[in-house]
Amino acid sequence: MDIREQGVASERLQKALDQIKTSEDRLRHVVDTIPDLVWLNQPDGTTEFIDQKYLDYTGLPMERVLQSGLADAVHPDDAVGLSAAFRMIWASGIAGEAEARLRRFDGEYRRFVFRTRPMRDQSGKIVEWCGVATDLENRKRTEAALRQSEQRFRDYAETASGWLWETGPDHRFVDLSSETKSPRLLASGLRRWDIASDVDSEPEKWLQHRAALDAHLPFRDFVYRTIPRLGSLYIRTTGKPFYDASGRFLGYRGISTDITATIRAAEAEQALRKAQIELAHVSRVTTLGELTASISHEINQPLAAVMANAGACLGWLACTPPDLEAARRSLEWIMEDSNRATEVILRIRALAKKAEIVMMPLDLNEVVSEVMAIVGQELVSHEVSLQMELAPTLPRILGDRVQLQQVIINLVTNGIEAMSALTGRQRQLMIRSGEDEKNRVFLAVTDCGVGISAENADLIFNPFFSTKSSGMGMGLSICRSIVEAHGGQLSAPRNNGLGATFKLVMPPYHAQAA
Ligand code: ADP
Repeated sequence: MDIREQGVASERLQKALDQIKTSEDRLRHVVDTIPDLVWLNQPDGTTEFIDQKYLDYTGLPMERVLQSGLADAVHPDDAVGLSAAFRMIWASGIAGEAEARLRRFDGEYRRFVFRTRPMRDQSGKIVEWCGVATDLENRKRTEAALRQSEQRFRDYAETASGWLWETGPDHRFVDLSSETKSPRLLASGLRRWDIASDVDSEPEKWLQHRAALDAHLPFRDFVYRTIPRLGSLYIRTTGKPFYDASGRFLGYRGISTDITATIRAAEAEQALRKAQIELAHVSRVTTLGELTASISHEINQPLAAVMANAGACLGWLACTPPDLEAARRSLEWIMEDSNRATEVILRIRALAKKAEIVMMPLDLNEVVSEVMAIVGQELVSHEVSLQMELAPTLPRILGDRVQLQQVIINLVTNGIEAMSALTGRQRQLMIRSGEDEKNRVFLAVTDCGVGISAENADLIFNPFFSTKSSGMGMGLSICRSIVEAHGGQLSAPRNNGLGATFKLVMPPYHAQAA
């Protein structure tokens, strides 16, 4: 080889060396870029190469790792298993893997999977084993967090007062039997409007709901009633659409609650309020101001005419001689006016009787409870504490529920008013019921208010007697006439303590029937 040839050869060699260097650099770059830890073993298992990431992770120096191998940083409980697995892989000559915990520089162990595969020369002989260790901890933690979160949602679903549901793109309920509880299981495969009983009665509501579903809009607090087969329940439901990764609409998911009990309670309250209003109306017609006002207005006119004609009549008779013809005319006018007054009274009585009276066997204790539901708020707002001593069982009485409610309301209201000026002692109202020695049912309402003076005791049941500045004085007189119309008695026996007691006594229903 001459000098020129030698020059060319050395140039080629340099080029080849450069190429090797470049490819080694590239390889190192790749190794450094992947997050896994990389190493090489000789066929006999001796560690030949270990990458910088491994050294950084374990915090061990290169010499020590090359000397003692990977096992140095492996958890003592996993070390034996890992080296046994590797010996088997090397002996088998095919790729394999094993898991073990590897100690980080700060002492924390993290789980890794160690994979290794043989590299062979052209003749097929194994020249070295290439190894890669992948950190499993993040994946394991993610899996554990996922499991935990799944469990959490399962717990929510199982303990929630409502239930979770899912519908498909056709709005049919998907069977979620393992996740939920009845009654929606029965609805599987059906659409919400297939299990609703109010589709025809509330078309507008359903039209809006279906329009929202068609537009894939979320909906909140939609309330509907289920068909009898599903318990005729009131259901409140909220849902939102869900989609796959490519944005394709898959259906709705949401939560529903059975609000039947709440709705029933609201209905009961409404019925009570209605009863209260009716009662107030009846009281207005039969008792206080308007009746008295109309009586005085309508009767005053004929009475004034009677007075005027009577005066005139006396005048005619006082003449000498008396003008009998004129006196007779006056007397005729007096009779006409009296008839007018009678007519007015009959009309007003008819008006007062308009409220239908329904006599039926009643438990007086029940009537008291109904009244308490009505006046309860009144007692609270006047800071009156209520004591009830109702006989556990009472013979029934025959009466009109509304009229008797009215009597008790009047007595309770009077008691509250009699205590309104009290400051020194507690305002207490006591209601007692029972059976007296003659088997009659009694009810006593006792307050600790101003009481009734001896001179007023005989007057309080008279119409228009009142000691109150704004009192009408009609309450007790109407109460007494109602009670007497029922064959009973209403009195205000002398009270031993402070305040007043009003006692209502009614014949029992059986005795009355006999
Ligand atoms: P009003 O309440 O409009 O005065 P009532 O006929 O209900 O009409 O009562 C007549 C009168 O009887 C009252 O003005 C009051 O003087 C007396 N009275 C009624 N209840 C009581 C009571 N619980 N305590 C003391 N006085 C009472």
